[in-house]
Amino acid sequence: MAVMIVTGGSRGIGAATVLAAAEAGYAVCVNYKSNADAARQLVETIKGRGGKAFAYQGDVSVPEDVAGMFRQTAETLGAPTALINNAGILEHHCRFEEMSLERLQRVFNTNVIGSMLCAQEAAKVMSTKHGGAGGVIINISSVAAKLGAPNEYVDYAASKGAIDSLTIGLAKEMAESGIRVNAVRPGVIYTDIHASGGEPDRVDRVKESVPMLRGGTAAEVAQAVVWLVSDQASYCTGTTIDVSGGR
Ligand code: NAP
Repeated sequence: MAVMIVTGGSRGIGAATVLAAAEAGYAVCVNYKSNADAARQLVETIKGRGGKAFAYQGDVSVPEDVAGMFRQTAETLGAPTALINNAGILEHHCRFEEMSLERLQRVFNTNVIGSMLCAQEAAKVMSTKHGGAGGVIINISSVAAKLGAPNEYVDYAASKGAIDSLTIGLAKEMAESGIRVNAVRPGVIYTDIHASGGEPDRVDRVKESVPMLRGGTAAEVAQAVVWLVSDQASYCTGTTIDVSGGR
């Protein structure tokens, strides 16, 4: 059974990815930071459907937590061959000059450093140069990387720009190690993240600016992620798929 780690797998796009991956036959590590109930319920759902999963509490920006996540996944499910770098945060809308240093550090620590730490651990276990079987890393970016999120969260958009560059560089560096690295850029998707930004109904406010005139679902993003992980995407690396209704 192929083994996948989904960071921030307890809710939103991560949870939808966990469900789609389990449906596709993956055993899944459901990482979360603090919402243990959501992670536990998701694991129970998968087990109830005959799948394999376990929940792992850990902060992706803490190296010991990340190392522990890979170690426990290998012990519980087997060596991981897929990493979904999904955990991400944004903070309340404000102008750029008002963003505190602490906020900038929180956003970059989770969205960028966290993804980098997880990708480093993945490279160590998956790389054929280190005796691994190869694998796939999917980074969850955002269309904000292209739009910039002015007057809302330029810090978040910049962190996703870093994710796009990380995807290109890692894809080229890892190609000869049997690791494909791709990204998915969601548009406005109905999840809890908008409440973190201070506007739970943000998707409905901005949906008129989406060419398809609607927000997306986490399940629609998950389908792109699972396809990029699959062998059907065997010649795709350094690729980014926008799942954004044309935005
Ligand atoms: P969400 O509903 O707010 O869920 C966030 C998930 O990340 C939760 O499972 C949360 O765990 C986890 N998490 C947060 N910080 C973490 C950390 N330091 N370590 C480990 N896990 C952490 O978010 P979402 O909307 O599904 O977003 C998922 C990804 O898609 C993010 O990278 C986001 O930037 C990206 N994205 C979202 C949208 C959108 O419109 N929703 C658009 C573009 C891109 P807990 O449950 O424990 O809190």
